[in-house]
Amino acid sequence: MKISADLHIHSCFSRATSKNMIITTLGPQAKFKGLELVGTGDAFHSGWLKIIEDSTEESEDGIFSLKEDHENESCKFILTAEVEDKRRVHHLILLPSLESAYNIREKLKSNNIDADGRPRVRMNGKEIMDLVHKFEGLIGPSHAFTPWTSMYKAYDSYLECYDSKPDFLELGLSADTAMADTIEELQDIPFLTNSDAHSPWPHRLGREFNEIELKKLTFKSIKDSIKKCKIKANYGFDPRLGKYHRTACTRCYLIYDVEKAKKLNMKCSCGGIIKKGVDYRISEIATWNEPHHPPKRPPYIHILPLAEIISIVYSKGVTTVFVQKIWKELVDKFGSEIEVLIYSPLKEIEKIDLNIAQAIKSFREKTLKITPGGGGKYGEMIFEPESTLDIYL
Ligand SMILES: [Zn+2]
Ligand SMILES: [Zn+2]
Repeated sequence: MKISADLHIHSCFSRATSKNMIITTLGPQAKFKGLELVGTGDAFHSGWLKIIEDSTEESEDGIFSLKEDHENESCKFILTAEVEDKRRVHHLILLPSLESAYNIREKLKSNNIDADGRPRVRMNGKEIMDLVHKFEGLIGPSHAFTPWTSMYKAYDSYLECYDSKPDFLELGLSADTAMADTIEELQDIPFLTNSDAHSPWPHRLGREFNEIELKKLTFKSIKDSIKKCKIKANYGFDPRLGKYHRTACTRCYLIYDVEKAKKLNMKCSCGGIIKKGVDYRISEIATWNEPHHPPKRPPYIHILPLAEIISIVYSKGVTTVFVQKIWKELVDKFGSEIEVLIYSPLKEIEKIDLNIAQAIKSFREKTLKITPGGGGKYGEMIFEPESTLDIYL
């Protein structure tokens, strides 16, 4: 079986997250998106663990289903968490059971583990990895290239962080496979693409996700598929849309060429500070100028949440009634957002909205025009309507 899975989100117990990040809202919203499996996030937080235990039951080994979901209107869940280590590096952790979550929680060295859904711990990457492996979980760096809290911000190699190979690497919104495959040490590490969502609505949840081939929907099978690189596809942002993709000023957002930024000692002419982009960081650690994809590397497919596409095409806010109406019409007709974005015939989408069909076509055919992001500002997709005749050429 193949499933669409988003394995990194945060609950209502993490800082700056929506009050609606609760299991009973997440379950149905994930279905609208087209996700079969979502990581719970924050699985070391006692309040969140209680909500998970109260609102779900373990339907298969390591897989949690919403109670009384007779109509199958909710996604399934797997226990996941993120921790921040003493160098401020973020680690994504997948867990086999509630028991393992409680066991690890007890052994994490933290002043107050319940202070935040994403706990800060006084441990390094290796110590966290050893603990997670002892309880049969999986671990890898979260958003591995971002300039604030990532592994490659703190280290030049995963060995300096973990002392051995992580089980996977999460690419993050500002990088994709083509960028990461310029780094030789990542050749045999599986890549994950997850949303890191802080709200449950489909323009956040599942904005990046993985398509994974499984024998059966169980934790063991998921672990096996990740370890054996049976991820069939990574779906995610065009990295140019990420807010730290290019090297840019954090005040005026002017984008700088890496060499020029170095010459200016990272000071912008406006007086602001130039922040290293993911492009810069990868150029420092890359082995090759061009990507070298190993044989098992799946394709990386660029997508953007449907509501954001509608919002850009019509220059209206994502949450406006106007955008939500078109979104709902498309999702009702085709079954889920993933169906609309990836599989539905453009001719059918055109019957509902010609402009949206054109925008989706430009994603599918990789002809999208983008102003890249940097310095903390997201990139922007530029929509230029074409004539109706061009659409099927
Ligand atoms: Zn993080
Ligand atoms: Zn500036």
